[in-house]
Amino acid sequence: MEVDYIIVGFGLAGLAFARQLEKHNKSYVVFEDASQTSSGVAGGMYNPVILKRFTPVWEATKQLETAIPFYKKLELQFNEKYDYPLKISRILHSVEEQNNWFAACDKPNLSQYMIPKISFEEIKGIKADFGFGNLRHTGRIDIKKMLSSYRSFLKEKKQLSEEKFEYKNLELNKSHITYKGITARKIIFCEGFGVKQNPFFKELPLNGTKGELITIYAPQTDISYLVKSSVFILPLGNHYYKVGATFHWTDKSNTPTEEAKKHLVDKLNTFFIDPYEIVEQSAGIRPTVKDRRPLVGIHPKYNNIAILNGLGTRGIMIAPTVAKELYQHIENKIPLRKEICISRYLSKN
Ligand SMILES: Cc1cc2nc3c(=O)[nH]c(=O)nc-3n(C[C@H](O)[C@H](O)[C@H](O)COP(=O)(O)OP(=O)(O)OC[C@H]3O[C@@H](n4cnc5c(N)ncnc54)[C@H](O)[C@@H]3O)c2cc1C
Repeated sequence: MEVDYIIVGFGLAGLAFARQLEKHNKSYVVFEDASQTSSGVAGGMYNPVILKRFTPVWEATKQLETAIPFYKKLELQFNEKYDYPLKISRILHSVEEQNNWFAACDKPNLSQYMIPKISFEEIKGIKADFGFGNLRHTGRIDIKKMLSSYRSFLKEKKQLSEEKFEYKNLELNKSHITYKGITARKIIFCEGFGVKQNPFFKELPLNGTKGELITIYAPQTDISYLVKSSVFILPLGNHYYKVGATFHWTDKSNTPTEEAKKHLVDKLNTFFIDPYEIVEQSAGIRPTVKDRRPLVGIHPKYNNIAILNGLGTRGIMIAPTVAKELYQHIENKIPLRKEICISRYLSKN
C-alpha cells in the first residue's frame, strides 16, 4: 500500500491534520490505539479569556477565526451538530474581583468577550453574593461525537487501524518511510502525552498535566450555560452537567482517582446548593509544554518525520491553526513561527 501520509494518533491534533490532507487531496492512513484520552474526556470549551486573572489567551482571537469555520465545515460534512455557542458566567468572589472585572473589560483583546455590566441575576442552585461577570462569543465543541463520526468515516474507507503504532517497525529511507507494508512520503506523530514513548520526540519538554472531571445528575437544576467558580459546571442537557477540572502534575495515568473526586465535590459544594448525584468520572493527560506553546515541526535529522503536539489546555482553539501551519511547512516550505516550532528545543546536532 502506498500513501502520502501516515498519522499516528487521532485526537484533536490528528483530526485537524487529517482535515488538511483531505482538503489538499492527499492520501493517508491513521493508527489509533486508544491509549490516551485527553480529547475524549475534554470539556470542549473555547474561551479566549483566562478566568483566573482576566487576561487574554495567547492568540485566541486569531485562532477562533480559523477554528469556528473549521468545526462548521465538519458539521456540514457529517450532518451533525458539534458547535454549541454557550455563555460563560464567572462567579465573582469579592469587591476586588468586581473591580478587576471592570478594569479588564476595557482592555483591547478582552472587550469583545467580556460584558462590563455585572449581573446579579438569581440562578437557582447557585450561590453568588458578588454577582457574575458574563462572557460572550464562547462555546463548546462536542469533541467525543466529532471524533467518533470521523473515526467511523475513516474506518469505512479502510484508512483507520485501531492498533498501537510500534516505533521499532518503522523503516526510514531518504524519500519515504515504510511501516508494516505501508509506504508513505511522511509520517506525522499526533500522540498527545503518548509521545513520551516515541524515540524520535520523547526528549521534547512535554510534561503532561492530568485532568479529571465528574458528571453529575442534578434533577432540580436548569442552567443552560457554563458557570465558573473554582470549578466549572457545564450543561450537557437533561439535567446532566460536567464538573471540572483538576490539575495534577505528577500522576501520569489516565485512571480516575478518589482524591480528584473529593477535590471536585468539595469545590462544587462551595457554590452549588441543589441536590445531585455523581454518575461518571473521567481522566486524561493534557499535552502541556514547559513554555505553554505547541510543539510543531519536522524532525531535525529525519525530514519524513514530523510532530503536531503540545496543544495543552486549549486544543479546541489551537489545533486547526497549527495543523494548517504544519501542512504548509511540509508541502510548501513555509517557515514555521519560532514560538511553535520544535527547533526551539531540538537541534540538528
Ligand atoms: C480534563 C480535561 C479537560 C479539558 N478541557 C478542555 C476544554 O474545555 N477545551 C479545550 O480546548 N481543551 C481542553 N482540554 C485539553 C484538550 O483535551 C487537549 O488540548 C487535546 O485534546 C489534545 O489533543 P491531542 O490530539 O494532541 O492529544 P490526545 O487527545 O491525547 O490524542 C492523542 C491520540 O494518540 C493516540 N496514540 C498515542 N500513542 C499512540 C500510538 N503509539 N499508536 C497509536 N495511537 C496512539 C492516543 O490514543 C490518542 O487518541 C482538556 C483536557 C482534559 C484532560
